[in-house]
Amino acid sequence: MFADVIIGISVDKLDRTFSYRVPESLEEFESLIGTEVIVPFGRGNRETKAFIVDLKEEVGVDESLIKDILRKSEDGIKMETGLIELAYWLKSNYGGTVNEALRSVLQVPKKIERIKERTVSLIIDRELASIKLEEFKRKKYVAKARILEKAIEGEFNYEALIRDKTASYVTFNSLVKDGIITIKEELLYRKPIKTSEKNIEKVELNDEQKNAASKIINDYNSGILGRYLLFGVTGSGKTEVYMEIMEEIIRSGRQVIFLIPEIALSFQMVERLSARFGERISIMNSRMSQGERYDQYLRAKNGDIDIIVGPRSALFTPFSNLGLIIVDEEHEGSYKSSKTPRYHAREVAMYRAEKENASLILGSATPSLEAVKMAADKKLEVLMLTARPAGAMPPNIEVVDLRKELKNGNKSIISIRLAELIKDRLNKKEQIILFINRRGYAGFISCRSCGEVVKCPHCDVTLTFHKPDRLICHYCGYEKTMMENCPKCSSPYIGKFGLGTEKVEEVVKTSFPTARVLRMDGDTTAKKHSHEEILEQFKREEADILIGTQMIVKGHDFEKVTLVGILAADLSLFMGDFRATETTYELLVQAAGRAGRGRYRGDVIIQTYKPEHYVIKAVETGNYKDFYTKEIRYRKLAQYPPYKHLLGIILLSLKESEVNKGSELVYNFLAENNENNFYLSRPIWAVIPKIKDTYRKIIYLKSEDREALVRAKDLVEKYIKESTEFSKVGLQFDFEPHGNP
Ligand code: ADP
Ligand code: ZN
Ligand code: ZN
Repeated sequence: MFADVIIGISVDKLDRTFSYRVPESLEEFESLIGTEVIVPFGRGNRETKAFIVDLKEEVGVDESLIKDILRKSEDGIKMETGLIELAYWLKSNYGGTVNEALRSVLQVPKKIERIKERTVSLIIDRELASIKLEEFKRKKYVAKARILEKAIEGEFNYEALIRDKTASYVTFNSLVKDGIITIKEELLYRKPIKTSEKNIEKVELNDEQKNAASKIINDYNSGILGRYLLFGVTGSGKTEVYMEIMEEIIRSGRQVIFLIPEIALSFQMVERLSARFGERISIMNSRMSQGERYDQYLRAKNGDIDIIVGPRSALFTPFSNLGLIIVDEEHEGSYKSSKTPRYHAREVAMYRAEKENASLILGSATPSLEAVKMAADKKLEVLMLTARPAGAMPPNIEVVDLRKELKNGNKSIISIRLAELIKDRLNKKEQIILFINRRGYAGFISCRSCGEVVKCPHCDVTLTFHKPDRLICHYCGYEKTMMENCPKCSSPYIGKFGLGTEKVEEVVKTSFPTARVLRMDGDTTAKKHSHEEILEQFKREEADILIGTQMIVKGHDFEKVTLVGILAADLSLFMGDFRATETTYELLVQAAGRAGRGRYRGDVIIQTYKPEHYVIKAVETGNYKDFYTKEIRYRKLAQYPPYKHLLGIILLSLKESEVNKGSELVYNFLAENNENNFYLSRPIWAVIPKIKDTYRKIIYLKSEDREALVRAKDLVEKYIKESTEFSKVGLQFDFEPHGNP
């Protein structure tokens, strides 16, 4: 028998398989596929790690030339065949090498030693033991005596004694050899979550929740593999619906993958889920140690857990009988991988659910245009939750026009109305969230006096500022010189928008000296558990005001928060990306949704320079349809996703001249081979043209037919491989890009 192997998963250059003979010692037929082995590789037959991806009876070449596999790799993980197939699917749909795809799918790179717990117990009877003890004491065997004395009292933990240095393993061993004690060994799992002690009461579902849950459960029980969009306003109780359904899936003996967008979110979600499902649930994320990750992988594989919660990579959990995938907050940008293969978790979830006969739920208060389009095309069934459960009211939303604030002489970043409400809540001992929409802060130019934002005359996106004085369009390449006065109102208050969390914290502390303030952003959460700590502190009401970026507005449930201030709502509206309006809408709705989730009604203040913008209007009135209708019309007009599929071909090089030459060559090649007649853009610079000394140019392709774009990708891959012009140029593919690479 022969095996096709992938050599050295960490090496990208070798994007092909190699054949080896499977020696008899290895031929346990229990599927070798997915096993990591050691093979002799290259001229020097260097021992190299390899993954078996296929087995076959024959190789098409002279069999005497084929080398033998040496042995199984000792710390290797066995990968499920299903996941290997998934890796191949990722490679062919998103580009990159098989190795890169395997690395994405493989959550744990290698075996890690399990934690052992050893228990010491007596194996001779007590009387005899007492005699022995006397003897040890007489002979002054102090260490032996100490252990034996303890063993007579009862079983005890071996590690604890070793750790305290009260005994050495030599002494233990000699007692074992004497046949006096025995040491039992048990393997433990590292558990990344504390089982919740809180007794969170199960709520009685309201009618809408019941309808949604029972629809999905009934479909599932009658063998219909549903694809659902659970569209529920913020605070409508989607999580309760998920839990109801998960319970049924688990009862039927199958498992659940529960995706959440960001690590920041997992803590509250996990607390609720573990209160309901106890030990049967675990998490997986990149902040965990390798040992913790390896153990969760094993627990899933061995059937010791039923639910895994995690970000997009949790999709690759090796459950044997997957029954349901939930993609919570499916609109979130973090579901798109930013490294090759640049897959979208929503798409991969659909694929895996289909392959493994599992149901799929996408949940959101602000569904992505992709999801709504799929619903319109009958690929998803929509289930609505239109209200917050009994008692909780939707928040009261007010828009403050920042242009007027400046006119009225208020130069502070906190409007008069917002300041008034902050004072009120501080008096009432209720809590406040101040949200800074820092996304898109990257260099767009606006006027502080009239709110004008400088746009490209050809593309309807903002121009981006480049030092020292250029304004550039990242879609068509249009350029102009930075102006000194606003082109609309001539005010000199035109420039880059600057507003950071620290600045806000400073202002808040001076304006409200008695308030206790917490800040949460990339800087304050760099440590492993700092997200949790900050959120917990706020939840325990140890602070009055929480200031932060997007990570504070998503999914969290704080009962006492009755005021949310959005400091500059338009910041992300114009960031030179066709998804900017959608992202902004989502963020604002999510931020607003944090107010008044408990017994008290909440207020939301939206500060903006563009009160008339349709995104702000839609958030103000709470009307998703208004937003959707306008947005989808724009996408259709501009031929963007979800109407057309979009592929970004990214060329990279350490040399500017190489990236220029390479991108021209690829552009010309595509222009000549454009049978499908798709839209093809000229190569343009990436938003940040140079990162870590690497220059990056992009070519965009648009087509109605996703497969046509995949074929174009294959053609370009082949072209580059066969050409000699690209030795200094790298290539990446980005399907349905999010933001500008
Ligand atoms: P979502 O995920 O849609 O934002 P959650 O599931 O977090 O909403 O629910 C918001 C709050 O409402 C939570 O505190 C939850 O316990 C509570 N809740 C949800 N459903 C009900 C219900 N049927 N009755 C009472 N409280 C509920
Ligand atoms: Zn102006
Ligand atoms: Zn342009």
